[in-house]
Amino acid sequence: MQVWQRLGDMVGSAGAAALVTLAAVRGSAPREAGARMVVRPDGAFFGTIGGGRLEWRALEEARRALAAGRGPARLVDEALGPDLGQCCGGFVTILIETFDRRDAAAIAALAAAEAAGPLATVGRMGADGRVARLIEPAAPAAGEVASVDLMRPRGRREAGSDLALQDLVLCERFEDGRTPLLLFGAGHVGRALVLALAPLPFRLRWVDPREEAFPPHVPMNVTPVFAPDPPAEARAAPTGALVLVMTHDHPLDLAVVAAALARPDLPFVGLIGSATKRARFLKRLGEAGLGEAARARLVCPIGVPGIAGKEPAVIAAAVAAQLLQVRERLRRAASARGERRVSAGADDRFLARAVALSREHMLHGDGGPFGAVVVRDGFILGEGWNCVTSQNDPTAHAEVVAIRRACAAAGAFALHGATLYASCEPCPMCLAAAYWARLARIVYANTREAAAAIGFDDAFIYGEMPKAPGERSLVMEHRPLAEAAQVFADWLAKADRIPY
Ligand SMILES: [Zn+2]
Repeated sequence: MQVWQRLGDMVGSAGAAALVTLAAVRGSAPREAGARMVVRPDGAFFGTIGGGRLEWRALEEARRALAAGRGPARLVDEALGPDLGQCCGGFVTILIETFDRRDAAAIAALAAAEAAGPLATVGRMGADGRVARLIEPAAPAAGEVASVDLMRPRGRREAGSDLALQDLVLCERFEDGRTPLLLFGAGHVGRALVLALAPLPFRLRWVDPREEAFPPHVPMNVTPVFAPDPPAEARAAPTGALVLVMTHDHPLDLAVVAAALARPDLPFVGLIGSATKRARFLKRLGEAGLGEAARARLVCPIGVPGIAGKEPAVIAAAVAAQLLQVRERLRRAASARGERRVSAGADDRFLARAVALSREHMLHGDGGPFGAVVVRDGFILGEGWNCVTSQNDPTAHAEVVAIRRACAAAGAFALHGATLYASCEPCPMCLAAAYWARLARIVYANTREAAAAIGFDDAFIYGEMPKAPGERSLVMEHRPLAEAAQVFADWLAKADRIPY
């Protein structure tokens, strides 16, 4: 969705509109941070923040805000618990903003920037309580998902209350979000596929050299392209476009596939047909000089496996499912790349927090000079510091404490996608804990050698790890027991076991 274009259209036609943004997500939620809805005063809306009661309540809030007239932005925290009838278990923060004709120029500028490609903005709260957005000069790389990084000071949040807004910094990305797709062929399956893809997040160029092949009306996400030379369309495709080939004619299929496979930046080239057709095409493509790596990228047959029906609508559904799989895989990869880049600034902040904890609690006498924080989606899930001497707990290392608290906060025994920031390189125990907690990444400041130099000899334990049990300084004896083995067997047979 082009958010600002849509918002500008609504303000133009209805005089006012609200923008509802899923500004932050902790834990499991129906949609990701950055999901948006644009709402008209009469309740009509575009986009979704995930449906259900959450969306319904956000719509109510937006309409109420619009009825009160253009005013300050509001942040609303919602727990996706029983009172919302949504059992995702996460927490979301929703930003609600109102706009009217006074904002037309600002909206138009953002709409123009958004139309030109992915857009990054930094928003700060003005004295009037409204978000003032500045366009970042460096646009985010194509393919990154639209998202929001809400930086807010700790300790200000009270359950159920609106937040103090003045210190917030809203780093946002906007982009169309639909995946470009070139569909070659307007036959029966092509037509069925266009219908199947109509409500899905794809932007289609539908190419056929027969002008009369196109139906008189096509869905809004489709541009019919009458092209006498279809392979030229494949050569001109935007980077990252998916390609599907199902023309009325095999030599034309071959020419389009050859042009598409010659482009390593087109991540999916699918050809309708059987394994026999694939073999024949690969042979021809080889004879035409296309390299082995390029040929190996040909996807044929197409569609998710396990669907045998040959009716055009059935094939279309199977292919649409496959395209969604490809799209999600590509977006996950792009998102991971984008997060690595965006997280550089966030890394500094969170690592500084871990170091601040190490100093604070060392001075307080809690234990050794170590601090850690676990972060996911831009939020601190748990903080920890060393409590070994104050709690007589040799396992109360900062990282273990932070992981325990993060798991308690998340209500889960795994923290997929989270990052551990530690003031010092984790010891083997903490490193293992990070693996068990399924953390994605560890960022640390001091090294294990620096820790050894001040008397914390993790380096010694690292040295023990690779040794055989009999060679370690800690005596280890292996005594097999039938009963111990039986417990393992019983675990495997336990119907209600929870694997981890
Ligand atoms: Zn440790």
